[in-house]
Amino acid sequence: MADLPLLNTYGRLPIVFDHGRGPWLYDTDGNRYFDTFCGIAVSGLGHAHPAITQAIADQAARLMHCSNLFHTGIQQSLARKLCDISGMDGVFFANSGAEANEAALKLARLYGHNRGIHSPAVLVMDRSFHGRTLATLTATGNRKVQAGFEPLVSGFVRAPYNDLDAVSAIARSNPNIVAVLLEPIQGEGGLQVADPSWLQGVREICDHQGWLMMLDEVQTGNGRTGNYFAYQTFGVTPDVVTTAKGLGNGFPIGACLARGEAARTFQPGHHGSTFGGNALACAAASAVIDTLEKDQLMARAREVGDRIRSRLEQAFAGADYVRSIRGIGLMIGVELTSPCAELVPLAKTQGLLLNVTAERVIRLLPPLTLTDEEADTMVDQLIRILRLYAADDRQSPRSNEGPKGSQTP
Ligand code: PMP
Repeated sequence: MADLPLLNTYGRLPIVFDHGRGPWLYDTDGNRYFDTFCGIAVSGLGHAHPAITQAIADQAARLMHCSNLFHTGIQQSLARKLCDISGMDGVFFANSGAEANEAALKLARLYGHNRGIHSPAVLVMDRSFHGRTLATLTATGNRKVQAGFEPLVSGFVRAPYNDLDAVSAIARSNPNIVAVLLEPIQGEGGLQVADPSWLQGVREICDHQGWLMMLDEVQTGNGRTGNYFAYQTFGVTPDVVTTAKGLGNGFPIGACLARGEAARTFQPGHHGSTFGGNALACAAASAVIDTLEKDQLMARAREVGDRIRSRLEQAFAGADYVRSIRGIGLMIGVELTSPCAELVPLAKTQGLLLNVTAERVIRLLPPLTLTDEEADTMVDQLIRILRLYAADDRQSPRSNEGPKGSQTP
C-alpha cells in the first residue's frame, strides 16, 4: 500500500474496508472488526443505519440542489429541529467541524468589531483541538498540529483547561477578548472532562465581560453524552455551539448555531459555503435526529455508557497500568500509565479497532445503538487485550511518566 497515489497525511493501518453494519466493519478479505470509535464519533448510529441510508436515497431521488441563494424545505426543517433541540436561535451550515469552527471564529470577530473592539481576540484552551484549517489549528492547543504552518493566525490567547483563576486573570488584563472557545470534553486532548463549576464560572465571566461563550461540540454533540449537546448535561447555555461528525452519521455536514446577539451578528455577504446545508446532508442529519429521538438513543447512551464504565472499573480495579477511567455516556477514556500506541495494531489482530489519543488514552466512542450484548463483546475484548498487553509490558517495560487526568463530573 506504500506506493498508493495519496498525499502522505495519515498514518493508516493497512486495512481496506468494504462495508459496515452497526458497530461492525468488514474488510475486502472478509474479516470482521468491532469498531470502538466510529471514525472518531462520526457513525453515532452505527454503520449503514437503514433509516439514514433511506433518507439519503429518497432525497437524492428528489433534489440534490446546492445553492444558498434559495431555500430548501429539508434545510429549513433541519434548522428548526436543531434550534428546538438546542435552544439556539439560528444555524449556519458548513461541511465539517473545522468549517463550523471557522464560522464561529468569524462570528466572534465580527461581534467584537460591532462592539468597537478593533483587534478582537478569542480565548482558547491548552490541549484543545478545533480543526486543521489555519485559524482552527491556531486555536488548537497542540504544538504538533501547528508546527511547520507558521505564521499562525493572530488574535488567540490561551489558558489551561479547567482553571477559572486563569480565565479571570485574562478577563482583568486583556480588553481585546471577545469570546471563549472550548470543548466540554476534550476528545483529542485525552478525554479531559470539564469541571461543571468551571464551565458555570466561565459562563458568568462571559456574561460580565460581554464575551461570547462558544462551545465546540464537534465530538461531544449528537447525543453522545446523554443529551443532544453536552452543555445540556453540564447545565450551561453557550451563545454559540458548533457540531459536525455524528451530525450526519458519516455524511459530511457541520453546523454553527447561535442565540441572542450572536445570532444577529452575521448579515448577508459576511459568510457562506457552496455545499454547506446541501439537501443530501440535511436529509441525513434530519434522519439522524429523528432516529435519536424515536429510538430514545440519548438515554441509551447514558445507560450503556454507565454499563461499560462500571465493567471496566471492576476489571481494572487495582491494576497498576490503568491510571483512570473517565467520561460521560458513550465518550469514555481509559488512561494508562504509559504511552500505548502499540495497542492499536495488537487490537487489530484480535478484530478490535481501537483509537489511542494523547499518547496513553484509549478513547471509546462506540455507536449509540449498541445493545448490551455488543457492549459486553467490546468490553470483554478490550479487557483481554489490555491484560495481554500489560503482561507483555512486564517483560519489557515502557516509560511511566505522564499528566494526571481530570475526573468525571
Ligand atoms: N473540533 C473537535 C472537537 C474535533 O474533535 C474535531 C475533529 N477531531 C474537529 C473540530 C475538526 O473536525 P473536522 O475533521 O470535521 O474538520
